[in-house]
Order: sequence, then structure tokens, then C-alpha cells
Amino acid sequence: MILYIIGGLLGIVVILFLIAFVRTCVLQKKTAEYNASNDVTRINDYAKKLSLMIQKETISIRGEDQADKFREFHNTIESLFPNVFKHCEKIDIDGNLIVKWKGKNSSLDPIMLISHQDVVEATGEWTYPPFSGTIVDGKIYGRGSCDVKCGIMTFYQAVEELIQEGYEPMCDVYLGSSCTEEIGGDGAPKIVNWLKEHNIHLFMLSDEGGCIVEDPIGGVKGAFAAIGIFEKGYGDLKLVAKSKGGHSSTPPKNSPIARLAAFIHHIEKKKVFKQKFSKAVDQMFDNIALYSQNFWLKLALHNMWLFKPIIKPIIGSISAEAAAMLQTTICFTMQQGSSGANVIPQEAWVIANLRYISHQGLVESNNIISEIAKKYDIETSVITANDCSKSLDLQGIPYQMTIDCITKVFPHAGIMPYIVTGGTDSRFFDSVCNNCVRFSPMMVNKEQMKGMHGLDENITASVLPGAVDYYKEIIKIQETRKK
Ligand SMILES: [Zn+2]
Repeated sequence: MILYIIGGLLGIVVILFLIAFVRTCVLQKKTAEYNASNDVTRINDYAKKLSLMIQKETISIRGEDQADKFREFHNTIESLFPNVFKHCEKIDIDGNLIVKWKGKNSSLDPIMLISHQDVVEATGEWTYPPFSGTIVDGKIYGRGSCDVKCGIMTFYQAVEELIQEGYEPMCDVYLGSSCTEEIGGDGAPKIVNWLKEHNIHLFMLSDEGGCIVEDPIGGVKGAFAAIGIFEKGYGDLKLVAKSKGGHSSTPPKNSPIARLAAFIHHIEKKKVFKQKFSKAVDQMFDNIALYSQNFWLKLALHNMWLFKPIIKPIIGSISAEAAAMLQTTICFTMQQGSSGANVIPQEAWVIANLRYISHQGLVESNNIISEIAKKYDIETSVITANDCSKSLDLQGIPYQMTIDCITKVFPHAGIMPYIVTGGTDSRFFDSVCNNCVRFSPMMVNKEQMKGMHGLDENITASVLPGAVDYYKEIIKIQETRKK
């Protein structure tokens, strides 16, 4: 009897595998390519503009009023894009900039393109000074070149050119740029408040988040437009273990550091958060399956309905990025014990940085950690926490518009939805916009990725014209909306 059952189950597995095998064999083969511009005039012109923008140092510093520094940066923008400022209304909120380009039909909800003006500090040994905007070998070097003055430069350029061409947008178009993104400050919330005060609900918001990436996972080669459809939440928890202290020559059991160590070991060893393949992740794998050169990888990616149980436990070793899209993550980042080598701490602590996923949000994830911490006599407090953002509807018009514009400007690139594991300004816009698209239309290679917040940040100049064209298309495609 048991043998019959085992035989039957094996038969089902073989049939399912054959279905997956056939589905994969009939799948079309595709290559994903990015074709950079070869229009030398445009490339040089845009590179110079971006270089000048980099030359204005715009490091944001917590607790300092830096509005005037950012106003100097506004002056640079105004001199580079004179038509924008001649035709559009400028609103300055403490250095955070909004530009309004009036459309033909003000009954349509407007769109907004945003990119932050501020950058992180630039320490360490750079090949070229970080605020020189050096242009060499077709690349523009400097802090902010990639993250993300290239965004401001290209969408202002798009509007500048459209105005020169005599174009009138269908709906109002807003350009926004906060000056506190890198310090999680109140710049973007001030822009959001301004929108609320003026009863403005956005049809669509475009921000950074995803970009055009190369070779998204091992075994899949090519250029992929990764459209960030939502971003994970962010939390810092402080975990404190206390004791009566004492001399380290007569050590008690379970001293604070030992308890913290055991707790951290528990969290790292056991899978405390639920892994789940969301629709977006399913679609991401399905889209990139078309481009896999390895048949077996293609088989797995295209048939997640069958292979999820096998992939889940090993996904961390395939790609840390992909693994982070399936669950809340936790990372221990800071710690402190006593102030002397021979003193048992009365209090020792660690900081854990969490990134919340939608199926296990802030409250549930924090509860899981604090319940485990209690077992080790550790107290948990929340330093800061915000939940993950609303998701872009994969069946909605704004997502489809994004795909249409990418297809038009980058016809050979692969396209995939993507979950943003870092933070962007767009998380503040959920109350004024249901459709936040986190996508910078620029190719950023793996080396350049490391430069963001790191050394020798740079961007390739020949990717700038494509980005300008993409923003023009996003503005023009609004004409297809029902009046
Ligand atoms: Zn950024």
C-alpha cells in the first residue's frame, strides 16, 4: 500500500517536472541589451551641465540649516535651464525646490518627477576630487554624479528641450527636489505638505530606486530596467542587556555581552522572518527567465510554482539582493559594552537595523524580535521605524506607461519589477500619490553601483541622452489619458 502511495507521488512529481520542462523548451529566447547614445553633441552638452551641478557641494548635514547652500545650487540649475525658469513657476521651501509647468488640462491630476539635491559626504582617497566634476574617458566623476544629480539634470533638460520645441504638456508637470534625502530629513515631507495645502493629488510620481542594471542575477546576462514598485520599511532597534556589573576576575554566568551574543546567534542561525514570493518577485523572475543562458536556471525561474520550495532555502547564496526581496531582514550594526577591559558592563547594547517587507510589516517584525530578546532577558526599544510603502499596481496605467516609455527609448533592454531594499524620498508621497514609480532611466554598471556613497562615484556620459528622452516620453505619454 505504502509503495503504491510513494509510486503515485513520484508519478505526480515526474508529470509536474515534465510540464515545467515543456513550458521552458517553448519559451522564447531573448537577449537584453542597452544601446547608449552616440550623439556626441548631446553627450558633451549634458556631461558639462552635470559636471557643473556636481561642482556645487551639496552635502546634507543633520541639525544644520543649510537652505542658503542649496539656494546656490538652485542658481546653478537656473543658469543651466533658463527656459524652464522663464516658463514655469518656482517654489522654494527652505531650500527644497518645486517647479510647476502648467499643462493644457488642469482637471487632470498632475505628475511629478523628483530627485534629491543633497549628497552624502565624500571622504577617502578619490582619483579625482569629489566636487571637481572631472570628465574623463566618457565618464563624469564626482559625488552625486550617480546618486542622483543625474536625475535632476536629465529631467530639467527634458523640460528645457520640450519648452524649446514649443510643447505644451497635457497635465501640470511638477519637478521636485528635496535637500535632505540622505539624512532622512523633512525636505520631502515639506514638499508633500505643500501639495496637500494646494489640494494636489498626483497621478504619478517618478523617483530614483531602480535603474538599468547589468546581469541582475548569476546566469542571467544583459541590461535590465528594474522598476522599483515599492520600498521596504526601515527600523533601528536598540537591544539592551543589563546586570549589576562587577569585576571581571569573578565573572558571573550570563553577563550582558554573553546574553547579547547568544541572542544574536539565535537570530542569525534560525530563520525568524517568513520568506514569501510576492507577485512582484514572481514576475521579476519570470521576466528574467526569458534571458537566461542556462537552461536549468531558466527552468527554475520560469516555473516558480514548482520550484519555490527548493529555491527558498538557497536563494541567499544565489543573490543577497533577491533574498532581501522575500522577507524582512535584520542586520546588527553597532554595539557597546563597558568602558574598561576589566569591568563587567552594567549595561551592554547592540543596534539592529531592520528592513520590513509588506507581508510581515513593522509591528509584526518588531514583535518577533522583542519576544526572542525577552528570552535572553534583553529589553527592546525602537529608535526609529517606518513601515514599507504602498505598492505600484502591476496592472495599473502608470506601470504600463512606464513600460511603454522604457520600450520606446530602450527597445532592447529587459524589463522587470523590483523591490527597493533601500530608502527613497518617494516613501513620503503615499498620502498624495497612489502610483510611485521608482526608476532612474540610466544604465549603472556594477562598478558604478559601488561608487554610490563610496569612492570615485561616476556615471557614463552616453547614458544621459537616453534618460532625457525617457523623461520626455513620460511627459508626452500623459496625452493618452482620458480627458
Ligand atoms: Zn539617492
